[in-house]
Amino acid sequence: MTDALVIGGGLAGAALATHLARAGKSVTLIEREAHAHDKVCGEFISHEATSYLSQLGIDLPAMGAFPIQAVRLYRRGLVGETTLPFAAWSLSRRVLDEAVLGKAAEAGAAVTRGTQVSVLTQFDSPSSAKTSGQDPSHGWQARAGHSMITARDAFLCTGKHDLRGYKRPQGLQNDLVGFKMHFRLDPVQQASLSHCVELMLFPGGYAGLEPIENGSANLCLLIRRRALERIGADWTLLLAWLVEASPPLGERLLHAQPAWPKPLAIAAIPYGYIRRQADGVWRLGDQAAVIPSFAGDGMSIALHSAHRCAGMYLSGASAETYQRVLAADLRAQVWRATALSHLLVRTGGQSLAAAVAAMPALMRLACRKTRIHRHALESSDGNINPSRVL
Ligand SMILES: Cc1cc2nc3c(=O)[nH]c(=O)nc-3n(C[C@H](O)[C@H](O)[C@H](O)COP(=O)(O)OP(=O)(O)OC[C@H]3O[C@@H](n4cnc5c(N)ncnc54)[C@H](O)[C@@H]3O)c2cc1C
Repeated sequence: MTDALVIGGGLAGAALATHLARAGKSVTLIEREAHAHDKVCGEFISHEATSYLSQLGIDLPAMGAFPIQAVRLYRRGLVGETTLPFAAWSLSRRVLDEAVLGKAAEAGAAVTRGTQVSVLTQFDSPSSAKTSGQDPSHGWQARAGHSMITARDAFLCTGKHDLRGYKRPQGLQNDLVGFKMHFRLDPVQQASLSHCVELMLFPGGYAGLEPIENGSANLCLLIRRRALERIGADWTLLLAWLVEASPPLGERLLHAQPAWPKPLAIAAIPYGYIRRQADGVWRLGDQAAVIPSFAGDGMSIALHSAHRCAGMYLSGASAETYQRVLAADLRAQVWRATALSHLLVRTGGQSLAAAVAAMPALMRLACRKTRIHRHALESSDGNINPSRVL
């Protein structure tokens, strides 16, 4: 029987597996994708994420990450620009997630790829545990492909994918459809994008554009489902419409070369969802809380949940207590970001956002208030003490 079964090898799962394996726990991690892969994400790495990544041994600049120093918000024409109140980076998820998963394997976690967990059940007194003389009182069994895995504790890190029997509720804003595409921009456009993340508002949604490694740029956008239905659920039609609806975006994409034939897409994202109680399993990352994408802090939350979870698990806390503490860590930040996200996709709200963006101090405040609270970051620090478990 393994100590910890980690389901999902994205940032939350890989970071947790690394922390637990480094602390001497036996860890089995199951990741359904066999190889490095792209994910729908703006690829904006906020300062909390940067600090958690560096604790894991990830050196962003050495991996070619691009520094992001400012945010520009457009509504029709240029509206506002301000320097970020913290250091940020951008790097493709294909590269980042693979590096973090590599740390889990390096730390000694048994990583299985290309297999998905389809069933997860809790048991009491399994016959296999009795015969092997291990603590038989409690555990989990998971079906992964053709294998059955038995574990003392289970950690759900499947991101946007809900496991059967563990479905998340809808959240507070769930009518947005997301798309992501990498582009090679015209050199002039790439240069004027510079070290900025650009947020472009258009009727019914918003797009984020930022430079990533290797001279490319990542376009990630969200649009209300009803607006998309009016345009037609076709990428070529949507792109043509966006270029009209947002002239600054049109200018950036002039002569741009897409990296893939089709974008990645995602629907029914439960923005504003926060897990407040446990159902036995420990939930991390998007399985614990989903912050609206414009905030660019979902990766920080995934890494924070891994840090918080590892610290509390190693200290002997219950899943129930962990889930309550994590919800308290994230509640205010997720609530504020969700309220702003409702505004960002509505005409009146967009006018307000444009007025705020003209005031750099207010824009910086909005950036700060959608980060993980300093006390939550500090109080999760120092909890991971290997001597407690060895
Ligand atoms: C449109 C959009 C833009 C975003 N932009 C940003 C941004 O700019 N900055 C930011 O910080 N955050 C952003 N986010 C949020 C961020 O992408 C997520 O919060 C983060 O990826 C969550 O990490 P995770 O580890 O919980 O899940 P994931 O990264 O999704 O990882 C989950 C993993 O579990 C695996 N898996 C799923 N089901 C199973 C199964 N049954 N068995 C085994 N493996 C399984 C998957 O293959 C995947 O690798 C954005 C999100 C969206 C939707």
